[in-house]
Amino acid sequence: MLSPNLTDYTSVAAGFSWEKEQAGLSGLPNGQGLNMAHEAVDRHAAGDLKYKTAFRFIHKDMLVMDCTYQDFRELSNRFANVLGELGVAKGDRVFSFLGRMPELYFAALGTLKKVAVFCPLFNVFGPEPVFQRLSRGDAKVLVTTKDLFEKKVRQLLGRLPELTYVLLTDVDHDESQQIRSLPRLMEQASDAFTIPPTDPEDPALLHFTSGTTGMPKGALHVHKAVLVHYVTGKYVLDFHPGDIYWCTADPGWVTGTSYGIIAPLVNGVTNVVDEEEFDATRWYAILEEQKVNVWYTAPTGIRRLMRMNIVPKDQYNLENLRLMLSVGEPLHAEAVIWGEQNFGMPFLDNWWQTETGGIMIANYRSMPVRPGSMGKPLPGVEAAIAEVTDNSFRLIDEPDKDGHLVLKRGWPSMFRTYLHDPALYHNSFHGEWYITGDLARRDADGYYWFVGRADDIIKTSGHMVGPFEVESALMEHPAVAEAAVIGKPDPLIGELVKAFVVLKPGQQANEDLKMDITAHARRKLGPAVAPKEIAFIDNLPKTRSGKILRRLLKARELGLPEGDLSTLEQP
Ligand code: ATP
Ligand code: MG
Repeated sequence: MLSPNLTDYTSVAAGFSWEKEQAGLSGLPNGQGLNMAHEAVDRHAAGDLKYKTAFRFIHKDMLVMDCTYQDFRELSNRFANVLGELGVAKGDRVFSFLGRMPELYFAALGTLKKVAVFCPLFNVFGPEPVFQRLSRGDAKVLVTTKDLFEKKVRQLLGRLPELTYVLLTDVDHDESQQIRSLPRLMEQASDAFTIPPTDPEDPALLHFTSGTTGMPKGALHVHKAVLVHYVTGKYVLDFHPGDIYWCTADPGWVTGTSYGIIAPLVNGVTNVVDEEEFDATRWYAILEEQKVNVWYTAPTGIRRLMRMNIVPKDQYNLENLRLMLSVGEPLHAEAVIWGEQNFGMPFLDNWWQTETGGIMIANYRSMPVRPGSMGKPLPGVEAAIAEVTDNSFRLIDEPDKDGHLVLKRGWPSMFRTYLHDPALYHNSFHGEWYITGDLARRDADGYYWFVGRADDIIKTSGHMVGPFEVESALMEHPAVAEAAVIGKPDPLIGELVKAFVVLKPGQQANEDLKMDITAHARRKLGPAVAPKEIAFIDNLPKTRSGKILRRLLKARELGLPEGDLSTLEQP
């Protein structure tokens, strides 16, 4: 077994400095700054990793296509030259609206080389969410397929005066000055490109948040973020030379870019990209056939695997798998333990957000896991728990107290603004502290435990109840597959705890079962915190990134307007 890069959390954290870690990056030649794409691709293509597989693309029909670091240097160079040809300048916005195909990845890296700003959109968005993002993001160039263009974009063109070029990945001829053939442009472009001087503070990536609590916000990131991608790749994803790595997230969500493009390449490993959406059998087959060593996924996928009666370690050869990680939503203790029992290793939970640009709190391979905990802050990141009100801010030093999770400003991948909303950005900080909007607690040993989103906290009979705690208890009941909890206004107790429960296949939804689940919750949580109402539901509404949309359950329950549904996953 390879020894972990982070052998001892305490000593690495104590001796950590971002300046020292910077030595693991190259910087542009002749001191011309720091460019994400240079760190991810070019420096490897110029060295020992030239012929190493950078990307392994798995097509829908399971056909595999490998691209080396050298291939990717040339493809991204060509794309950067295409942008140059089209007059794209530093800071201009280049969007993609594509499935997980090579074009998405070379467009991302080529855009970064050109020091323009890349913004990937998830390809299942309908026309309106696409319009919102292209217009709010001031898109100048959009890369998409003919099919997506015809179905969802052409109708929007009249409302997008700033959109100068649409580059179609699968047509041979230009339709007009505006609607061009990408293959043709790529063919005409040179495969040599010199990255211009890049200030580490130059904007690089624009990502919209998942829209779980409301209207998605556009968070802007700079080239310097690559330092966090590098460090977390080393210490959290524990990349080793020769690793095969698979991140299941789409680049339309920040995880799919930070950890589905940049972090693995910066660390010089092979990055598996699967074009398909979730499919349990396919996922297991990929883990086995591609000999995946490190696997980064999300609770929504893990819960779906858990619902099936498969013990993967007995049915698949997973001897290469060394590490499994999860992000995006709370990972219930159940799921961590299920990993232990069924894969022979726990899922390591980690916490971060679109705004943080990279992993901030994590379980590390070398650190004992406390199932249900998010782990400890990344070395170099200072986290704390704070009491925050409209006009006060106080750090809470005592352990085991619930409060706002806050991060000390200054980690390199911190977002630099919210698009068109500087006031909201400003209000997310109190002095040196960034207020994440999540509530958590820290135990006496420094492990962080997720409590809930500040917006989702339920105030019932004088208690503050986090949905995560209640949902975790419900999920321990053998009949429950998933649960979501909201607060419902109640004249006597403020809010009452209401649970929506999805049952496992074969379970009968009836009053007896409801009583049994209620009794179980009361035993685990006490009567004040246990749900007063339980409703069975076939599916929980989720964002397309797999997060439970509690605000939608609540709006429906109360008959209120449903709000922005641009990221709602259609069942
Ligand atoms: P919006 O900000 O638009 O409401 P969002 O917060 O869901 O959407 P993201 O930035 O994609 O958008 O998600 C980050 C959030 O996801 C975190 O703030 C946290 O609430 C949740 N999250 C991520 N990882 C974890 C984790 N390991 N445990 C608990 N919650 C997590
Ligand atoms: Mg958020």
